[in-house]
Amino acid sequence: MALRNIVTEGDDILLKKCRKVEKFDKKLWDLLDDMAETLYHSGGVGLAGPQVGVMRRVCIIDVGDGLVEYINPEIIYREGKHQVVEGCLSSPGEFGIVERPIKVKARAFDRNGNQFEVEGEDLFAQAMCHEFDHLDGVLFKSKVIRMLSPDELKQDDE
Ligand code: ZN
Repeated sequence: MALRNIVTEGDDILLKKCRKVEKFDKKLWDLLDDMAETLYHSGGVGLAGPQVGVMRRVCIIDVGDGLVEYINPEIIYREGKHQVVEGCLSSPGEFGIVERPIKVKARAFDRNGNQFEVEGEDLFAQAMCHEFDHLDGVLFKSKVIRMLSPDELKQDDE
């Protein structure tokens, strides 16, 4: 495994739509392993392919309940909405308020090419929406209602 560099905002790669994964091979597994190492090293809850420069529909999420790997994911159900604070590893130190569904159900493939469904609420649902957006070149800032001010950021630290 190896750490990969996280692409930050300003790089056009983050604004492009990713292609589907066709081959569930060693190259994909190495990517997923590297992404996991990179995610845990960064302290974030999710990471998507384009954030490590790979334009494929791959992302990983761990909101504290274990790692979930998503290949070619899609949201098949969403319920409710609420405003939540959100950030992105590609926009270090910046946070804003976005509206996200409270509950989300997704369908994706695992690293072996088996389809699965997963349901998540609150932060987990938010993370799925955020990471899947990355695969379409959509950053949370394009959906933000307002960014948090430096004062508000300071309060969050306390
Ligand atoms: Zn992000």
